[in-house]
Amino acid sequence: MNRQQESFGVPPSALRLTGKCPVLLIASSNPGKITEFRLGVRLWVEKIAARGITQPPKWNVQPVPGIETLPTCMEDGESFSENAVKKALHYSRFASGIVLADDSGLEVDALGGAPGVRSRRYAGLGATDARNNAKLLEEMRGVPSAERGAQFVCVLALTRSGQQVVEFRGEVRGVLLESPRGDNGFGYDPLFVLPELNRTFAELSTEEKLSRSHRGKALQAMLEWQAKNSQWFRGER
Ligand code: IMP
Repeated sequence: MNRQQESFGVPPSALRLTGKCPVLLIASSNPGKITEFRLGVRLWVEKIAARGITQPPKWNVQPVPGIETLPTCMEDGESFSENAVKKALHYSRFASGIVLADDSGLEVDALGGAPGVRSRRYAGLGATDARNNAKLLEEMRGVPSAERGAQFVCVLALTRSGQQVVEFRGEVRGVLLESPRGDNGFGYDPLFVLPELNRTFAELSTEEKLSRSHRGKALQAMLEWQAKNSQWFRGER
């Protein structure tokens, strides 16, 4: 397995695009994530087009076909990276081409980094967002505002035909509220405030959230890497 880490801050001059762009299969059935990936890719194409760089990528972003009926992937890794890679390789057994998996979650300072990789099942297997949020509020009861810091983390794992895996990471810091605010987004969004805006992720549009979020940052790193490595997508290395 060839695994690489890429950092942010690729200069605009690096965004030379060549060749055809592939279908991007997302290894998730979470509608919130799919919406964010679709919009993120579209915004990227518009950004490239606005800079006058020719041949912007025409990604076709879709969930892995039939993902709801496929055997599920055990997300039992101890890190976001481990789980993202595991998911990407698992679902690429059922789909040919480029598969992108996301493992993400919330790390709360006062809880020693919990719920972390257990974010989705914090209140138990199959727990709803509402139950997870209620449990988080309960655990954080009485914690003063100065100690309510937290971060969202996202690791993306991109694989081509289940062979090559490349990873990208994004993080965003915020503060947890004592009661939810806002109706947009998913998961812990209504509890997570960006101090610089004094708005929760659930009070932002998808586009506003993406421009600041852990997933938006990881996705941008992935798309910038893609722009410089079109040969990887054609299977040339
Ligand atoms: P995964 O599907 O195993 O990656 O689980 C991610 C879980 O982390 C979700 O179910 C949410 O509870 C939480 N999470 C990850 N990203 C976000 C986000 O952008 N907003 C809110 N919650 C998130």
